[in-house]
Amino acid sequence: MTTQFGPTYVRAIAPYIAGKPISEVARQFGLDEARIVKLASNENPLGMPESAQRAIAQAASDLGRYPDSNGFELKAALAARYDVPPEWITLGNGSNDILEIAAHAFVEKGQSIVYSQYSFAVYALATQGLGGRAIVTPAVKHGHDLDAMLAAIADDTRLVFVANPNNPTGTFIDGATLEAFIAKVPRDVVVVLDEAYTEYLAADKRYDSIAWARRYPNLLVSRTFSKAYGLAGLRVGFAIAQPALTDLMNRLRQPFNVNSLAQAAAIAALGDSAFLEKSAALNAEGYRVLTGAFDRLGLEYVPSDGNFVLVRVGSDDDAGNRVNLELLKQGVIVRPVGNYGLPQWLRVTIGLPEENAAFVAALERTLAPA
Ligand SMILES: *Cc1c(COP(=O)(O)O)cnc(C)c1O
Repeated sequence: MTTQFGPTYVRAIAPYIAGKPISEVARQFGLDEARIVKLASNENPLGMPESAQRAIAQAASDLGRYPDSNGFELKAALAARYDVPPEWITLGNGSNDILEIAAHAFVEKGQSIVYSQYSFAVYALATQGLGGRAIVTPAVKHGHDLDAMLAAIADDTRLVFVANPNNPTGTFIDGATLEAFIAKVPRDVVVVLDEAYTEYLAADKRYDSIAWARRYPNLLVSRTFSKAYGLAGLRVGFAIAQPALTDLMNRLRQPFNVNSLAQAAAIAALGDSAFLEKSAALNAEGYRVLTGAFDRLGLEYVPSDGNFVLVRVGSDDDAGNRVNLELLKQGVIVRPVGNYGLPQWLRVTIGLPEENAAFVAALERTLAPA
């Protein structure tokens, strides 16, 4: 018998499936990189803001030194923006890091974590990575069933993950409903509210989760610079919570988990409200175009409040992979979501107008009767 390394719960982990890189698709299908359209990872189609590029160029001269372990300047900027003390902020190597640190900081091996079916893949990974027990509640209309999640909280539950808007489905819970849920969660259970797409919310849907962090000592709000701020490649996210939570997060994080370029770029992007507005407007327009095309083609989709749309491309369980392959051959990369238990669906990131048009044209060619 060959030796098996590691704990059973680590061996049981299904690896995260990322969006295919442009270079890989170019090699695999013999395509020109410049003509490939990637709508697979919910990146900002505008790329990195110029303000951040300038900040990086400046910070690059000092890369011989370690980054500021405490992220003084970035935390100061975030503290001013959100009107919380810097001690309430934890920085992460992407918000993925925040989610992982939270799971390890608040949950022991064998204890349980509650999250919803069809919610972000990292919740399962973080749970499995520490040998935790996952309690997964069935989704309703592809979104979180908060009543079921509340009812599922067990004696040994220490953490609940909620994504709002959720990825990969784009579903949204309104502020009043969400706060009522948080108020009902037992105070010894940490609620990690993952708001990776909050900057894309329409004005009438916004709510103030930072105010809730002041009210509920068991709430940790997670945000990222990867999506609307356009800094996915730099890896920077943050959490806001009261010191009782933040203290533990800070003990567990790697001392230099956010690099110098990321800190500098995040400060610049945080101050670049024009870029955020442009990104949100572009996204809203792209959403209308994509969902208009889906309506025209008679395709079911889940209404989304993020920068992506989940669309059903067939009624058999090979549909997602089959259509995905045809799109790849035409140089369009989207995300099959069979690993989420959604094999008939594809998740499409909203791109630039020309990218959206290329995707729709490729999809139409793929679905046209032979
Ligand atoms: C993209 C995403 C994240 C993490 O992104 P980072 O790049 O690690 O900050 C977290 N939560 C959700 C729901 C996401 O979609």
